[in-house]
Amino acid sequence: MTPDSNIRRRALLKVGIAGTASLALPLAAVAARSYGFEAAEVADGVWLIAGAQDSLNRDNGGAIANTVLLRTGQGAIVIDTGSTALMGAEIRAFADQRLGGVAATLNTHHHPDHWFGNAAFADAPILSLGPTAQAAALNGQGYSDALYSILGPWMSGTTPVPPQSPVQPGAQSLAGRALTLMPLAGHTEADLAILDADTGTLIAGDLLFLDRAPTLPDADMATWRASLDSLGALQPSGTIPGHGPFHRSSAALAQTRAYLEATDARLMRAAELGLTPAEAMAAGPVPDFAGLGAMPEEYHRSVVQRWADYEQRALTTISDA
Ligand SMILES: [Zn+2]
Repeated sequence: MTPDSNIRRRALLKVGIAGTASLALPLAAVAARSYGFEAAEVADGVWLIAGAQDSLNRDNGGAIANTVLLRTGQGAIVIDTGSTALMGAEIRAFADQRLGGVAATLNTHHHPDHWFGNAAFADAPILSLGPTAQAAALNGQGYSDALYSILGPWMSGTTPVPPQSPVQPGAQSLAGRALTLMPLAGHTEADLAILDADTGTLIAGDLLFLDRAPTLPDADMATWRASLDSLGALQPSGTIPGHGPFHRSSAALAQTRAYLEATDARLMRAAELGLTPAEAMAAGPVPDFAGLGAMPEEYHRSVVQRWADYEQRALTTISDA
């Protein structure tokens, strides 16, 4: 059953249970949307709202990225806020009801599934690396147009609110919680990874994926691999990838590295063979990764997004000849 049909079913049940009086409910109330997410405390004071292992679509309402909330004496530190105003509002409601409000918000990078819920957190600092704030401001309207066309009514009321405040990288206390904020890159030009000192939990943003195909629209493979080396040196007690489950092994690190290397090699080989992008797409993802969430569509997108890089490297240009 899809979330959408679930919602309709719940709405119908509500009408049924409440009897004839509910027939007077305004239509908007009957049709109200909700993500109805569950938060799990994966380490002491570390709450995870897990995204669907899928592409953005109307069944998941855009709730595909992980959101993490860290408990502090001054309210929650919220890490990433989802794709829509509604998702932001539901995360905010959880923070208000269970964690005493919001002390600060961090956006790990500028892709819209990680910050389009920011409007619900604008009464406290919304922090990111500097280039993330610039890219979010630059791309916000384009992302908004794209998400409205994909998600339709789930986007109702969503306006992009880019992060405004630059974070100071390094070890520090944020709202009384000891964190190490690591400025890395490769998935995008600026990727913030966060290590929670109390629990040893690594919140990796989209530098790490597990069981869901990595997205490559802004990827720089060599830089990304160097960032994986930095994360690999940390030995965290547990890891929360940008997409995928909390786990206590190096599974996301190993899988993300293997995926990047195999996909890089496949696209390079396709370009060297003189394939067209359509032929490279038809060849499909590397078989070892064909079963990941969001496949094969994520591989198809990556061919389109990255083709020019590989073609340029494979083809002799006049100045090289
Ligand atoms: Zn993401």
